[in-house]
Amino acid sequence: MREIIGIPSLVGDYDNYIWVLYDSSIQQAWVFDPGEAQPVLAFLNTNHLALKAILITHRHFDHVDGIPELKAAFPSAIVYGPQKTPNALIDVRLQEGDQVTVSPELAFDVLETPGHTEDHISYVNADSLFCADTLFTGGCGRLLGGTPQQYAESLLKLRQLPDELDFFCAHEYTVDNLRFACYVDPENPALQARSRALQIDYPRALNQAPNKLGLEKSTNPFLRFDLPPLRDKLRARGCDDTPASLFAGLRAWKDQVDQGVEKIE
Ligand SMILES: [Zn+2]
Repeated sequence: MREIIGIPSLVGDYDNYIWVLYDSSIQQAWVFDPGEAQPVLAFLNTNHLALKAILITHRHFDHVDGIPELKAAFPSAIVYGPQKTPNALIDVRLQEGDQVTVSPELAFDVLETPGHTEDHISYVNADSLFCADTLFTGGCGRLLGGTPQQYAESLLKLRQLPDELDFFCAHEYTVDNLRFACYVDPENPALQARSRALQIDYPRALNQAPNKLGLEKSTNPFLRFDLPPLRDKLRARGCDDTPASLFAGLRAWKDQVDQGVEKIE
């Protein structure tokens, strides 16, 4: 049976999760965005797992720096990654519409989701969405290479996926994100309930399926910027009605809060 664990990485600096899919019955594992190798190798060794594939979403160091050491330990592991990522260690280059079959019973469709960076892709199948820094629990990544228009389109693309998908992102920023979400969308009952029920145990490894995408759709302001009441608030802050403008306005709003320019308490 396939299982999944979110291994904390770069704790205190970037608070990443490295997601490892594994099947103990065949002693195989597949890893997403290993920003470092050691915690992954420790998990694989402890559980007697062989690494079959490394799946990369974008070029940032906290998603790729573990590749060389993992490849040294498992030379036959195949590295999948975006067509646009400037990283020579990627063996198989992927773009929108591609399908990757990492084992006979495990495949993903590739979605291009630029915005956080210009090269970002996400992996999706009937069970799960791995979207790294495109969409976080309660928030989204910063604009570090892509355009607001790209980012808005990527988020609206993810919003069309089924509610039931397990949703895996690459950082644990939930507390901070929901604080901002409650500030900009205070009347949202689903968000209030989520906020009340919130229990984060980071940096403990996450070994149960985390949130469903449907919960993000109902509570994450970065999937709701074009809907009332957020849309109206963003209009009042000078945005026009295009997704790019509304997204840019919301992202800039969060950046101002993050930088302390606007205080929310
Ligand atoms: Zn990133």
